[in-house]
Amino acid sequence: MTETTTLADLPLREDLRDEHPYGAPQLHVPVVLNVNENPYPVAPEVVADIAAAVARAAVGLNRYPDREFLDLRADLAAFLRTESGAQLEPEQVWAANGSNEVMLHVLQAFGGPGRTALSFAPTYSMYPEYARDTLTTWVTGRRADDFTLDVEHAREQVRRYRPSVVLLTSPNNPTGTALPLATVEAVLEEVSAVGGVVVVDEAYGEFRRDGTPSALELLPRYGNLAVSRTMSKAFSLAGARVGYLAAARAFVDALRIVRLPYHLSAVTQATARAALQHSAALLSTVDELRHRRDETVAWLRGNGFEAAESDANFVLFGRFADRHAVWQGLLDRGVLIRETGPAGWLRVSIGTADEMQQFRTALQEVVAQQ
Ligand code: PMP
Repeated sequence: MTETTTLADLPLREDLRDEHPYGAPQLHVPVVLNVNENPYPVAPEVVADIAAAVARAAVGLNRYPDREFLDLRADLAAFLRTESGAQLEPEQVWAANGSNEVMLHVLQAFGGPGRTALSFAPTYSMYPEYARDTLTTWVTGRRADDFTLDVEHAREQVRRYRPSVVLLTSPNNPTGTALPLATVEAVLEEVSAVGGVVVVDEAYGEFRRDGTPSALELLPRYGNLAVSRTMSKAFSLAGARVGYLAAARAFVDALRIVRLPYHLSAVTQATARAALQHSAALLSTVDELRHRRDETVAWLRGNGFEAAESDANFVLFGRFADRHAVWQGLLDRGVLIRETGPAGWLRVSIGTADEMQQFRTALQEVVAQQ
């Protein structure tokens, strides 16, 4: 009786019994500022090139896609060279359906039963799910009150847990905090001593402040380092599902062992390659968004709120005795933000000028009513 079957009738893994599918509410409201997307749609000339590339790929859809996608990996390497000066061979780049899948590959390859993954809270809420799904033990150290990472604490946690995977997020979600390269390097040294790998998740890397180096700079010196990026945020391509990382060849070879064959569809590969031909156009909104982020932080602070320093395209702000009421009040006014992060805080993604105006007006109304 399919319609009366419940989860309790099925042999679901015991550790998944009380779990729910991950995801922020997908609501159709006028102002969507909850999942750190780029608010600007893809420009018409880029759309035209993507559509033409997809049409060419469609002719060959009777065949499986290029399993190694070295052309796309070469294009991504070329992009990272322009963006951060990184000198990478195509074989040093890996891609998947969003950096979520890239990270799952990392946990599948380097985590597993009897192994531990370590990160520092508050941080991206999907990490524990990758660990759960790969049966990896999940542990967290903590960030300081201003959300920075104390190097000594981080090193201590590494010595204590001897993790095989350490996830460092820079800029961090949901706090926006960028990590100094010296911190990343200190953690890397400690993790190297216990034989683990480090992933620096730079999903928001393109929004970092000028002069802040990417962890890509450390790649030539550390074979156990990977730096992950995504086309979902700065590139305005969340819907395409393309994430990637750069690492030593051997690191990438480990991920090739666990990936499903043909995991990156021909349509996805064509879309990403066409988009990368237009990386400058796609990234042309980054400066404006960074500027608006800084304005948003200043406005929040000027209006009696706390706002965390951010190097990303979102701002964590608060604090509220009842943050859920504030979140709901904004939603009632057509503004969807994210209820996430430490107690009392909320996160708003940076939208268009008009969207941010609506956010500010709604927030003032909500707070005035409390
Ligand atoms: N890392 C961080 C820190 C993120 O915030 C996100 C998306 N919210 C991701 C990775 C995954 O993004 P995607 O799968 O779209 O590349």
